[in-house]
This record gives sequence, C-alpha cells and structure tokens, in this order.
Amino acid sequence: MGDHVSPLPGLPGPPQISNHIQQHSNNNNQTGNHTATNNTHPVTPLKMPQNCIPTAPGTPGTPGTPGPQPIPQTPSPAPPPGNPNFEVDLPHDLLQLGWRKYWSRRENRPYYFNRGNGETLWDMPGTIQQTFERNSDPLGINTPPSGPPIHHASPNQQPPPHHQHLSPHHPPPPHMMHLQQQGVKRRASDELGPNAKKIIVPGPWDLEIPTNVIMFEKPQTLFPHPHPEVEVLRFQLMMKLRQTYQEMCHSREGIDAPKESFNRWLLERKTIDQGTDTLFPSYCFPEISVAMYREIMNDIPMKLVRPKYTGEARKQLSKYCEAARKMIETRGTSSEGRKIVKWNVEDTLQWLRRTVGASYEDFQERLSHLKSQCQPHITEAAKSSVEGICRKMYNLSCDYAAKVKEKNQSILVEGGINEHAVKVNAPHQRKVWCYPIQFALPCPNLPTVDFVQDKDKTYLRYKGDTVHVNNAYFHKLEQLYRYGCADDRKFEHFLSRCYMLIKRYNAYFGNVLSGEGAQNQGALPIPVLECLNKQFGVTVECFASPFNCYFRQFCSAFSDIDSYFGSRGPILEFKPHCGSFEANPPFCEELMDAVITHFERLLEDSMEPLSFIVFLPEWRDPTPPALLKLEGSRWKRKQVVVPALEHDYRHGFQHVVTKPEVSVKCVHGTMIVWLQNDAGYQRWGPTEERVDTLLEAFRPGRERERDRTQLLSPTRIPETKPDSANSTYISSSAPPLPPTSLPTSLSA
Ligand code: SAH
Repeated sequence: MGDHVSPLPGLPGPPQISNHIQQHSNNNNQTGNHTATNNTHPVTPLKMPQNCIPTAPGTPGTPGTPGPQPIPQTPSPAPPPGNPNFEVDLPHDLLQLGWRKYWSRRENRPYYFNRGNGETLWDMPGTIQQTFERNSDPLGINTPPSGPPIHHASPNQQPPPHHQHLSPHHPPPPHMMHLQQQGVKRRASDELGPNAKKIIVPGPWDLEIPTNVIMFEKPQTLFPHPHPEVEVLRFQLMMKLRQTYQEMCHSREGIDAPKESFNRWLLERKTIDQGTDTLFPSYCFPEISVAMYREIMNDIPMKLVRPKYTGEARKQLSKYCEAARKMIETRGTSSEGRKIVKWNVEDTLQWLRRTVGASYEDFQERLSHLKSQCQPHITEAAKSSVEGICRKMYNLSCDYAAKVKEKNQSILVEGGINEHAVKVNAPHQRKVWCYPIQFALPCPNLPTVDFVQDKDKTYLRYKGDTVHVNNAYFHKLEQLYRYGCADDRKFEHFLSRCYMLIKRYNAYFGNVLSGEGAQNQGALPIPVLECLNKQFGVTVECFASPFNCYFRQFCSAFSDIDSYFGSRGPILEFKPHCGSFEANPPFCEELMDAVITHFERLLEDSMEPLSFIVFLPEWRDPTPPALLKLEGSRWKRKQVVVPALEHDYRHGFQHVVTKPEVSVKCVHGTMIVWLQNDAGYQRWGPTEERVDTLLEAFRPGRERERDRTQLLSPTRIPETKPDSANSTYISSSAPPLPPTSLPTSLSA
C-alpha cells in the first residue's frame, strides 16, 4: 500500500472522503418536505432596511410579500387550533408595550412581534426562559448585515443571555457588548477565515490532543440517525423494561432486582449482540444471559449483606433459614434436595436456640456452611423460574428494539428517505487516522429543541421534557461536535443531538436519583490521563462517553448518537492497527473478558507499535477470569497495583454533579497492566521512571493541585466564571473543522 506509517501525530493529508455525506444531506434537503421545519421554499433570511419598521409581521422567510419593503406575509397556516385569541394571548403589560404573538410557519412555533418598534423574539419578552437559537431574531430584523447596529429601545428588552453570540472564553470589550447582544449572527465555522482563533475549552479534559491511532478505513454504519421522537420512545421503553425487571424479581423470587444487575446485563448482552438497536439487545445467542441468571440466583432465597454487628449476623442466619425453608416448600425440587435443605435448616435453628454467646465469626461460619449445603438444591428449585425472568427480559428487549425500529422507519418514510436505496460506500483498503463513525443514511430533518442556561447548568427541552448538563460539559460537547461532526458544520442539529445524547445516557444509566449507573461510568483522575498521554503516548480511550472522555477521540457504547461527538464506536468493533490506548472498562466481567481477547488479537495482527494500558479492579475473592487472563497474557509487559483507598476515581456522573462531589474514593485496588507488542513496547514501554510518574499521578490531591496550577498558568484559559457562564455556546471564532471527522489517508 506504500502508506507512510508513522505513529506520530502529524498533519494528515487532505480528506479522502468528503462528498458523500454532503451529498446525502443535499439529497435529503431536496426530497424532504415532511416536517414542520422543512420548507419547500428556500428560506432566505429577511433583512429589513435599517430605518424601516415593518407594519405587519409575518412568517420569517416568506417570499413574494406585499408592500414597498419585503414585509412578510400574515402567518399561515394558523397556529394550533383552539385559541382564537392567539395574537393577544399575552400578559396585559406586554400587550400595552405593543407585543403580539404570531405563528412561524417555518419553525412551526410561536414568536413575538412588537408593533411599536418592530422587534421580534422567539420567546415571550421578559421571560427568564429563553429559547436557544442561533438566530433568536425570527424575522431577522434586529440584525443589520453590516454597519452600525440599530438600537431598538424597547423598554422591556433585556437582551437574553443567549443573544451573546460569543465564546465565554473570549469576552468582548465592553463597548462591543451592546452590538453583540443585539444579535450579531453566529457564523458557521466553515465561513471563517484562516485567522479564526482556536478555542480551548477548559475543563477536566484535553480536547486538543490529536490521534496517533491508525486503522483501516471502515464501512459506514447502517444505523439511522437518531431522532428526538425515537429517543423519547427509546427512553420510555427502557424505563419500562427496567421496571418490569424489578417487578418480576419481586413477584417471582421475592427479592429486589440485584443492584446494577440490569446495567451489567445490558453490557453483557452488548458483547454479543448483532441486533438493530444500539441500546436494546435484540440478537443474542444464547438468549438467557448467564450474567443475569447468576446475579439473580445469588440473591435467592435472600440477599446476603455483610453484617456489621454480631446481633445482625445472628439475625441474618435465622432469616436465611426461614427463607430457605419457605423456598424449598413452595418450589418443585427432588425429594432428596428438599430433605437435605430441611435437615440443615432444622439443625441450624436448633444450634441457634441452644447457643448463647456465639461470636460474629461463629454465625458467619455457620451461615456459609448452611449456604454451601442448601444452595445447590435451592438453585435447582429456582432454575426454571430465574431462566424465565432472563428469557422474558431478552424477549421484551427484542420487542422494544422492533418498536424503535418501526418508529425509525416511519421517520425515514416521512423524510422521503429510502433506506434500501442508499448506496453504502465500500471502504478503501487503506490506512487512515482513526475517525468518528460515519452514517450511510442521510439525516432526516430534526425538530427544534429549546435551550436555557443558568449560572451552572444548561437545560434542553423537547416537547415539555427537560434534560440538563453542567455548563462546562455543554461547552465540551460543543467542542467535540466541532471536531467530530462532519454533517452539520452550521450546528443546526447541535441542540437536538445534545438533547438526544443526554436522553440516551439517562436511559442507559437507569434511576439516576438513586445513583444507578454511576458505577459503570467512573473515570480515571485527570492527572493520570494527562500522564498516560505524556509518558505513554496515549491519545484514545477505549471506554468512554462524550461526557467522561478526556480525549476528543474515544470508543463508546453508542455508534449512532456518540459519533457526532467524536466516538469511534464500541471498542469490540474497533480494530486499530497502530497507536497507544488506555482502557478502563465498566464493571462487567464478560465485557472485560471480551476486550482482553480483542486486544490480544489486535496485538497478534499488527507489527506496528500498538499498546493498551488496561485498568481493572483488583478483585480477588474470587479473581474474575478477565483479570486472570490479563495477568497471564503473553503480551503483558508489566503489572502494578494502586492500593484500595489510596486513590480516587471521578464520579460516573461528573457531567451533572457539583465539583466537590467529583472525586470518589476507590474502595478496591486498581490493577494496571501494559499489553504491548514489540514495537509498542519499544515506543511506549513501561520503564521504571514512567511507571513511577504514573503512580504519582494517582496520588489523591493531585487533581486539586492541577486545577490550581491551571488557574495560575497564563497559558491556560480559566474555567468559565459564573458571571460569564450565561454566554451561550455560540462561538464566533469557531475554528475550521479539523480533518479528524472524516477518514484521512496517511499517504497525502
Ligand atoms: N473514559 C473514562 C471513563 C470510562 S467509564 C476512562 O477511561 O477512565 C467506562 C465507559 O465505557 C462508560 O462511559 C461506558 O458508557 C463506556 N462503554 C460501555 N460499553 C462500551 C463499549 N462497548 N465500548 C466502548 N465504551 C463502552
């Protein structure tokens, strides 16, 4: 192939694939006339002459309008039925000030027009809640194309925070403030010249590190683009599935669903799933998940938790006796099994009655003896019922995946997209810098999503459903989108996609209020990731989400929604040829095991420098097969353990919790293993000095020290200050899209 195979990040050559994505979206625009936002007419923004106040409001962008000036027409079609007083359905004081409500046909939502001064707004004037809009000036009349701004002295007008079309990190000089607040439109990154400033979004990440990972070009994904309607359905069905699981465990086995077992089930299923949905497992063999079966069975006849006191230990033992007896009497099992359980239970109860002053250890020993005697028979008795739960869960998941698919198909039909007619480009057999997942199907038009920001959080609302994320992470998403998303350089879908991303992860986490899901999202401390990059050339996380990634390139659970934010897809489907990786998997034994096998195969297949630094919990009682496999790997160059309680992790919900909550003490040791082929070892080998630096990076408190130095460092931009946090994401100095969002050949 004659590729230049340098693992060092260099300036890649010109993108080799540049047109088909564009083509698809163009096709789509041509064919689409299916949703409210999709006009059959080309939409030209209306620019009113500076001194002219229109006398009649109209739908933005309506061509062929009457009057001496391009005054738009009366809104048509009418607003949603049921309110004949739509125009004056406003608080009295706003009416007095000249405000009226009209209907935007293009955007399919109301907007506000001031008859006194010609001002237009998407949101009711004076409301705190402001809709995010690239253009918050529906008629475009507040935005002079050039020249000095017109100041419409509306007594009521407080420019909403999102009118500041500025990066919070580059506040304008005070005299510029007014101009920008009056609605200078954001320019898309591709309109910007070469002098555009590079924005660094500060936070616990470094999104400026380019990839050093080389892979073969990949086929585009056949998954449809996510759509808010589908995402809402997915979320509802996922919540229903979780609830059904809890109800089945409760009604059939008399236990609560084991904590996090549903989430581990999802992870386990996804190691083998070949189905059509990125969230719901729907094509797995075997149908019955061993992981789920094991976890439920482990809590039958009752969940055992390590007691704190002797009294508790005694109580638990007697409760176990009762539960085992009840279980064996009500379920069908062999008479031999029933006899054994009954005999052991009686024996223990008698021991309890006659023993006074037994110690904690005595009770625990007795319990473990009883368990070992009874459990095989209890398992036998519960087997078919537990299998029934596992099968039912899987079948429901398949049904839900089918429902989601159906919904997706109706959206494609509505959008005039024929999924069968789509041409999937066969990937070239060539090496490229790793790039985000690309879609084969075009994206249907997406409905608008509302946007509100306060001092700390960004809220996104779709049809009355609101999701949120901390402001710094919203800015991070913007940067990831800028780097990772090739089909929307104007950020027209950005808010919808952020909404869907949050919604998807909320469905994935479970009941966030009870902390469910956080365990599988815990991240390494920032100094550790920084050190991995500096000492071991790491530029990609094998396990991440757009929320917890440190690098802008990462693998993650969802090839569809995550891809807009830089994801290279699920790790088991990612086949790099060269590069340096960090892998901190979620706590699912099957996934851990599968990924180590995956790494071993990749190392076997490549002569180029390849390195995986793997972080696993150091569980020893018993040691999980994945850890044994890792320790015994022929590619292992070194292993070290960071002891329990001597290091922290970042909270799994770092994107929503407050700063003091982010660091969480790690209650187990962390095993670090270097898996490297010869070339990888040569380049990024674990020398004593490097390993020491890494262990030092784990020292608790390092992250705080790092934060402090960052704040003092003149080269870094400080974190968004609370008073500027109101600025929206709109960054007029957005840099041009770097070449990482599309495959870039190495042989330029
Ligand atoms: N990026 C951080 C946090 C890792 S937490 C770090 O490396 O320290 C583990 C992450 O793996 C979660 O965000 C989870 O959503 C993601 N994940 C789950 N399944 C995955 C898969 N098959 N491929 C890649 N990432 C996956």
